[in-house]
Amino acid sequence: MRIVLVGPPGAGKGTQATRLAEKLRIPHISTGDLFRANISRQTELGKLAKSYMDAGNLVPDEVTIAMAKDRMEQPDAEGGFLLDGFPRNVSQAEALDELLTTEGIKLDAVLDLEAPEDEVVKRIAGRRICRKDSAHVFHATYSPPKQDGVCDVCGGELYQRDDDSEETVRTRLEVYHTQTEPIIGYYRAQGLVVTISAMGAVDEVTGRALEALKSGQ
Ligand code: ADP
Repeated sequence: MRIVLVGPPGAGKGTQATRLAEKLRIPHISTGDLFRANISRQTELGKLAKSYMDAGNLVPDEVTIAMAKDRMEQPDAEGGFLLDGFPRNVSQAEALDELLTTEGIKLDAVLDLEAPEDEVVKRIAGRRICRKDSAHVFHATYSPPKQDGVCDVCGGELYQRDDDSEETVRTRLEVYHTQTEPIIGYYRAQGLVVTISAMGAVDEVTGRALEALKSGQ
């Protein structure tokens, strides 16, 4: 399957993407994670991306599209993939369409995760991520680790993302509404959008997503 995941920051895209990718046996491709990996390796791309990310803005299309394309062309993505955080505006969606057309392949679904604004702000403010594996995510109040600052899964150090500060979150939400939400209309016109609520327990949302993908609604 080839799936695109959309939703506001804090809707739980990363958490759900990890689980869905495992169940569906397809690689989870997160442009946010790819950028963060470049930042920690201090590559040129990482240095460029960091300034945009810390401000809550989108990294320029040119570098983002090239990076996403490169990842999608890796052998493990041949049979399918779950895109998380890409495309994030209409011109990226158009670039993706172009790439897929060249390869003679199509998307199967665009999964739209819906969550109210006050909820996503709360989720982001308390979010703590493991330095060793970004799939290990905790929340200061909703799902605290057993030991403060330490990952339950692998013992890695937990940290708060630089762009999870309250001020940056506001910008990210605004960017989501103005630039990312329009891709839902773009994909709706192609009959690909499946909308589910991102509220409730993590397992519940995963179940809802798998059901919705199966029935295509
Ligand atoms: P979230 O969805 O929680 O905001 P991500 O990890 O997906 O978090 O993205 C973090 C940041 O990385 C974004 O705010 C943006 O600066 C950058 N980014 C990720 N994907 C893209 C993209 N497709 N285009 C441009 N910038 C991106």
